[in-house]
Amino acid sequence: MFVRELSPEVISRISAGEVLEGPTDCVKELIENSLDANASRVKVEIVKGGKRYISVLDDGTGIHPEDLPLVIRNHTTSKIASFEDIFKIPYYGFRGEALHSIASVSRLVIRSKHYTQEVCYELKAEGGRVCYVRPSACSAGTQVEVYDLFYNLPVRRKFLRKEDTERKKIVELIKVYAMARPDVSFELISDGKRVLFLPRANSYRERLEELFGERFEERLVEDQYIRVRSLISVEPSKAQVYFFVNSRPVYNRELLEFIRGRAGKAKVVIFLEVPPYLVDTNVHPKKREVKFYKEGIIKELISEAFERKHTSVLAQPKERYGE
Ligand code: ADP
Ligand code: MG
Repeated sequence: MFVRELSPEVISRISAGEVLEGPTDCVKELIENSLDANASRVKVEIVKGGKRYISVLDDGTGIHPEDLPLVIRNHTTSKIASFEDIFKIPYYGFRGEALHSIASVSRLVIRSKHYTQEVCYELKAEGGRVCYVRPSACSAGTQVEVYDLFYNLPVRRKFLRKEDTERKKIVELIKVYAMARPDVSFELISDGKRVLFLPRANSYRERLEELFGERFEERLVEDQYIRVRSLISVEPSKAQVYFFVNSRPVYNRELLEFIRGRAGKAKVVIFLEVPPYLVDTNVHPKKREVKFYKEGIIKELISEAFERKHTSVLAQPKERYGE
């Protein structure tokens, strides 16, 4: 006999390496969890580009103490109950894989006070094994601390990107989520220094102007199903395109090219709001690629956003859909 079954721990450790490439992916998952928990404030702290330490602190709903040991198990989620729910969910997460993956390859501390509880609880885990759950001191919300990512995957750890590269990626990542959620304040502390602070803003425009130090013009084009909110920098600047679908930063090569073709020398940020059944985001845990049904209509609406100067609602949208 040469064939044996791997233990669940080994399987988790191997697959965690697939879900998480490095500290930036880890920060992304934790930020998404904070936003899913309705946070209005997200504070990220990293040491050595996140390789040594990552902390994400929020003021969201918190995790119930009885759920604490469950959230680091695989495929545990509070966000969906059936397969059909995937097509309705307003959440970033639903796979229930992120905390499990992170826990499998790090030393993890989760401190959380659920909104129904008086007391805060703390869970510590190492390599996916729970060390303890006990009462702790903290304020409302959740803090997830990740020490020594990939400490038990030495080869992966060795091949992580440089600290500085990882730090820059994390700054960019936080900026992107900050664009999507102007109603949330974001802060980043890197090696003890505050490198980013974005207080809550009143509009997308205000958030972008604060982020880029440039003026933007906002245009809105919508029909009965789809809304395109586009923000275009007023003065010529370094061309850059950001594309969001239902508040999720996404990648779709064809649409990006299409937008770039119209953007010229401007910074362009497009927020697309579409009914979940017109878009397929459930491709791969890491990939941010999306596919659209009705891509032609989406292109038409985007084109229109570049032409019109003011908020507009399309006159006879119905014919576009046929069926
Ligand atoms: P998913 O986000 O796909 O549900 P995760 O592994 O990222 O899976 O998280 C598992 C569960 O842990 C979530 O469904 C949620 O109930 C809980 N959770 C994680 N992070 C937070 C947080 N910051 N605040 C409140 N609950 C959280
Ligand atoms: Mg998640």
